[in-house]
Amino acid sequence: MSKSKSSESVKVVVRCRPMNEKERAAKFERVVSVDVKLGQIIVRNPREAAASELPKVFTFDSVYDWNSKQIDLYDETFRPLVDSVLLGFNGTIFAYGQTGTGKTFTMEGVRNDPERRGVIPNSFEHIFTHISRSQNQQYLVRASYLEIYQEEIRDLLSKDQSRRLELRERPDTGVYVKDLSSFVTKSVREIEHVMNVGNQNRSVGATNMNEHSSRSHAIFVITVECSELGVDGENHIRVGKLNLVDLAGSERQTKTGAQGERLKEATKINLSLSALGNVISALVDGRSSHIPYRDSKLTRLLQDSLGGNARTVMVANIGPASYNVEETLTTLRYSNRAKNIKNKPRINEDPKDALLREFQEEIARLKAQLQKRSGKKKKRRQRRRAGEGSDGEDLEEGETEDDDEDGDDKGDYWREQQEKLESERKAIMEDHSLVAEEKVRLLKEKERKMEDLKREREAGELLAAKVKAMESKLLVGGKNIVDHTNEQQRMLEQRRQEIAEQKRREREMQQQMESRDEETLELKETYSSLQQEVDIKTKKLKKLFAKLQAVKAEIHDIQEAHIKERQELEQTQNELTRDLKLKHLIIENFIPLEEKNKIVNRAFIDEEDEYWKMKPITRIEDEHQMMTRPLSAVGYRRPLCHHARMAMMMKPDMRYKAENILILDMDLPARTTKEYQEPVIAPKVAAALEDALRDEDEIQVDASGFHSSLGPTPPTSASSSLKKPKSGRPRTGKKLSTPTSPFSSSSPSSPLYPQSRGLVPK
Ligand code: ADP
Ligand code: MG
Repeated sequence: MSKSKSSESVKVVVRCRPMNEKERAAKFERVVSVDVKLGQIIVRNPREAAASELPKVFTFDSVYDWNSKQIDLYDETFRPLVDSVLLGFNGTIFAYGQTGTGKTFTMEGVRNDPERRGVIPNSFEHIFTHISRSQNQQYLVRASYLEIYQEEIRDLLSKDQSRRLELRERPDTGVYVKDLSSFVTKSVREIEHVMNVGNQNRSVGATNMNEHSSRSHAIFVITVECSELGVDGENHIRVGKLNLVDLAGSERQTKTGAQGERLKEATKINLSLSALGNVISALVDGRSSHIPYRDSKLTRLLQDSLGGNARTVMVANIGPASYNVEETLTTLRYSNRAKNIKNKPRINEDPKDALLREFQEEIARLKAQLQKRSGKKKKRRQRRRAGEGSDGEDLEEGETEDDDEDGDDKGDYWREQQEKLESERKAIMEDHSLVAEEKVRLLKEKERKMEDLKREREAGELLAAKVKAMESKLLVGGKNIVDHTNEQQRMLEQRRQEIAEQKRREREMQQQMESRDEETLELKETYSSLQQEVDIKTKKLKKLFAKLQAVKAEIHDIQEAHIKERQELEQTQNELTRDLKLKHLIIENFIPLEEKNKIVNRAFIDEEDEYWKMKPITRIEDEHQMMTRPLSAVGYRRPLCHHARMAMMMKPDMRYKAENILILDMDLPARTTKEYQEPVIAPKVAAALEDALRDEDEIQVDASGFHSSLGPTPPTSASSSLKKPKSGRPRTGKKLSTPTSPFSSSSPSSPLYPQSRGLVPK
């Protein structure tokens, strides 16, 4: 481990995944070859026309081919980084690359398969094993999990997944996510649970998980705090923070043809990633003094990992197939630049925000409280014993009692106290010299004392439980976290690490030899013959020429990439300009100048978020526009119309005083119905009806009158009596049968009409 304060480069490794089923089925060509020994990635151009073109070679700290095992990557590349986090350095691992090249596979891997577990689960195992083997150290491990999607930060561990978090900055501790939840974890199982919960939440709300994960950045943060007694006799705390970052897919989001919302979305998705690229460029450029960290949430949050106080490893993931060659080259160039970033990692000793310190202080405080309680008890007991005049033996025992062994002693104490109260109660009950009232009072008092005793005991137990819970979170090797690996496994682990270390050193030496070879070429200046000189120089020339060609090709490629990027940026700019022009047009033509000015005056930029916001409508003195009330409201609570004011003066006691309400009389509507007029019944019908409705016994059949009554008109009296009263309701048969009926006997029967057929009951 290198000393602190010195600067070191970002470590970049490249991993090429195997061909997948589809690629094999479609018989795609493999264009990537991997030289693990030299740490080189060689990319051929798949185009026929470019067959003569030299393959492109990139050198990295280490490279992994499709046969690489997860554990190899971990032992060689990630283990040293996690080790330094355990020492109190900050560490970051980025997985960069096109979607589907194995970023998530490298970071998380296959969860339930120990062989294919990724860096995150492997680091859990590593961290807790390290702690379990530690001596005289106290550890506190906690985890957070967040996601950045379209420049919005989501806490993957919080209950409310709709909430968006904000970045804040403090001069002493730097940038942090406000209100980000973090969980103290005591074992691998617990931290795995945290990861699983976060992963579940990550897929919640995503209609298409693949698409969502390829467009968002996921950051798993493990903070390890370690407290150890220093040489100065003081406790020192070191805090290491490990950021495990699964970046969004690096492929270009197609912006062509996108408009409005879709354009905005496409621009935002890669904003963090292109900002990351800009930060890397600015850092390695050396000329620019401004590093655009503030351009995106991701770069702000991981500012320390890029050119700051952290050790950083970037894993660039690529695919081997020919159709991906463009993206593969872009990824390789991008990560190649990152190699030159210089970080200045140092151990974070005794930072102000160490949670471990807070825990220790809280535990000490609670313990002191507990001590005070038991101290009080002890004193009380001693006093009591002395008062009872017990012999010296007892007292001695009380004095020699150790603070640590008070568990049993405490139980005794409570029992004693309770028994004593109980016996006192009994004594009172049996004491016949006391008056009944006095007895009740004393008994009550004793009962109250017993209650108090119980409550005190419960409070003490609660306090003890709290201390225990807090202490259990502070991990101490061999005590509350035990190493379960046996000697053999441990040896095996160590061997593996040694091998990894050896491999790494070998590769470094190889790379050094390569570069020295080129240098020494020029030093061999003595030639035995002219022919030899020609031979050697030709060889040298050939080598240098090839190199020149490679560099030229590289320059050409980079220029092309730049042009492409610039065109895209220009296109975005054009779109945005057009959008802006439209908005200007609307403002100029449809929003009154006065209103526009008001809005402009209220708008301000929020320094924290770097986002335009609107000030609330306030009634501050200097804001004249807002202060003055309309003329109509002078002297009144609210604007009043003339009518209301007059009404107030004229009729001071009216109901809606000072309201702008007109009170008017009710307007009755015009009548739309008519009086009922009964229809005129023809005399013949009237007679027939009357006849029909008469009681049968009233009907007298008189054959003699048959002819005389043949007259066309029935008696007029009947016709007039049939006229209904004003009510207009037809009479019922029953009513007609009453003797008061006006035409009961007056009209003679008319044999002309048929007899009633039972219309009226007999
Ligand atoms: P990314 O996260 O970059 O989009 P993934 O990690 O999801 O890509 O990988 C895509 C697929 O490729 C997965 O099915 C994964 O299992 C497989 N894969 C990636 N890298 C490897 C590897 N080194 N070995 C075997 N399979 C791999
Ligand atoms: Mg992924």
